[in-house]
Amino acid sequence: TLSDRLTSVLKNLRGKGKLSDADIDATAREIRIALLEADVALPVVRSFISGVKERAKGAEVSQALNPAQQVIKIVNEELVNILGGETRRLEYAKNPPTVILLAGLQGSGKTTLAGKLARWFAQQGHTPMLVACDLQRPNAVTQLQVVGERASVPVYAPEPGNGVGDPVDVARRSIEEARRAQHDIVLVDTAGRLGVDEEMMKQAADIRDAVTPDETLFVVDAMIGQDAVSTAEAFRDGVGFSGVVLTKLDGDARGGAALSVREVTGQPILFASNGEKVEDFDVFHPDRMASRILGMGDMLTLIEQAEQAFDQEQAEQAAAKLGQGQLTLEDFLEQMLAVRRMGPLQNLLGMLPGAGQMKDQLANFDETHLDRVQAIIRGMTPAERDDPKIINASRRQRIANGSGVKISDINDLVNRFFEARKMMQQMAGQFGGFGGGGGTR
Ligand code: GDP
Ligand code: MG
Repeated sequence: TLSDRLTSVLKNLRGKGKLSDADIDATAREIRIALLEADVALPVVRSFISGVKERAKGAEVSQALNPAQQVIKIVNEELVNILGGETRRLEYAKNPPTVILLAGLQGSGKTTLAGKLARWFAQQGHTPMLVACDLQRPNAVTQLQVVGERASVPVYAPEPGNGVGDPVDVARRSIEEARRAQHDIVLVDTAGRLGVDEEMMKQAADIRDAVTPDETLFVVDAMIGQDAVSTAEAFRDGVGFSGVVLTKLDGDARGGAALSVREVTGQPILFASNGEKVEDFDVFHPDRMASRILGMGDMLTLIEQAEQAFDQEQAEQAAAKLGQGQLTLEDFLEQMLAVRRMGPLQNLLGMLPGAGQMKDQLANFDETHLDRVQAIIRGMTPAERDDPKIINASRRQRIANGSGVKISDINDLVNRFFEARKMMQQMAGQFGGFGGGGGTR
């Protein structure tokens, strides 16, 4: 697997400074293979990797992660960004019905999706109607009727002697029917061919012109892999679409098609289909897809855990010092940064046994001032951080100038710090010190 390969390429280094070019290149090479194995189209892989390298080159080495993990983290973030960038909700018509046209190759899963969408809308209180515009195959209408029944949604289909055979006509009349029967959403199922051809594109475009859809969804089978790019381009040029639905994600496809289609057409992926049953359907989750494309959910979990463990470690060290009443402003800053990475202050407090009364005080600490506090401490010299007593009026002025804060902010911070330290010392005396051995782990 990719994780194994990466582990063998890179040692478990922790360092300072920038990520090295060698680290980045070695990792990028493996990521490239992973993307190709996931069937991401080659040009898309190239541009993606170069973007990632660019970003990785500017990155400081993390203390929590080894370089490989760090590059993977960047890769994952970029993937999630691209897959979910500009994620948006469906566009509903101001005057109902909202018309949604489904387009895609035969077998991509349009008819199945029509049923899933119908059910999904109905569950949200909408009154959808399905329209059978695939009149190419003899049983296509029946298939949609079965799907509609399962979703408990009515199907508009041509009746004998009533314009059978002309999908454009059916599409046009379906909108009138929807208005009449007060359906607020119309889902138009269309025909597809196994390959892209002009006649099919023209029919889809004619249906589009007849119903002027609010959304045209390009339905694409995740299993088609590399072909996703050319198919998407053909539908973009032939019909145009405003969103993508990825189907058959229950299969073993790694989902590279998602990245390819997103990159090449710029249109967002709105839904994911993952099974034949009407409930096998979800809105699209970029993070899940990114981890699937990379094929290393375990590695990503590990990275997350490593970062959390590191934060925890730092916070515990600070908590121990705090417990012994030896807190300096340097510790305070470090601890604050660790805590902010970790989330709410309560997490740290949980590590301080017996600090009940202090918990209340710290819990009232206004976290919106943390940026200012950070700026102030960063503006201090190491000596000042170590022993804030030496911070006299002229030093205060200097710090205020450097950090862009008011002198009163500095006074505030220093006073609060002294109070906290005094309280810690008192408590340390009272409890015989809970810094050593009193921890929760
Ligand atoms: P259409 O030609 O685009 O209308 O495609 P269909 O909706 O008829 O689907 C083609 C085949 O793929 C059918 O056998 C469906 O049951 C199957 N199918 C559709 N979506 C999915 C899916 O998400 N997962 C799986 N496993 N099969 C699907
Ligand atoms: Mg169909």
